[in-house]
Amino acid sequence: MRLGIFGGSFDPFHAGHFLVAQAAMEEACLDRVFFVPAAQSPFKHDDQASSAEHRLRWLRLALQGCSDYFVDDQELQRGGISYAIETVLSYRDRYPDAQLFYLIGADHVPTLQQWRRAPELAQLVEFLIVPRPGEAPCSISEPFSGQYLKGFPLEVSSSTLRLRLRERLSIRGLVHPKVEEDIVKRGIYL
Ligand code: ATP
Repeated sequence: MRLGIFGGSFDPFHAGHFLVAQAAMEEACLDRVFFVPAAQSPFKHDDQASSAEHRLRWLRLALQGCSDYFVDDQELQRGGISYAIETVLSYRDRYPDAQLFYLIGADHVPTLQQWRRAPELAQLVEFLIVPRPGEAPCSISEPFSGQYLKGFPLEVSSSTLRLRLRERLSIRGLVHPKVEEDIVKRGIYL
């Protein structure tokens, strides 16, 4: 089995995230993608982050009915700073015979050397890198291995969405309609 692990803050989950998974499914012939929201990203120090409860609900709303996609709340359950290595080790234990892939946007490639227990992580997963508009492709270096996908480049980010909501601009089409409805109804990010 070929399994994709897709970690992120997902604050909120948007169409760019969805298309990262879709590109990985198609181009790397994955059987399943697991979306793993972080309790606290090692690279983000934002006290204003939305609660785990909201972020998890948006993922579930957006992925409802997608039978190959699964939402995994293990990092939220663990709490604290979320390190990919801990999550990947849990997949290695659960699926000892599977080939594991870790999905990232191109903006994360330059940070890989700083990821916790990088050499160990590099032994366990292959990275699938999805281009991100505005990010020059940067080659993946030792000890990591991976491939750049063609993807569906879409210039959307959670921070742009948060800004648009604060400015009371529409986010229609940039997130799943049920996620849009939920965010607007609850007045989140205003
Ligand atoms: P923020 O704007 O708050 O930093 P973000 O939109 O980058 O958030 P994250 O949840 O931090 O979203 O991203 C999770 C993963 O998805 C990262 O690997 C990131 O590179 C990737 N990603 C997010 N948006 C895109 C996009 N539009 N194209 C390609 N990759 C993306």
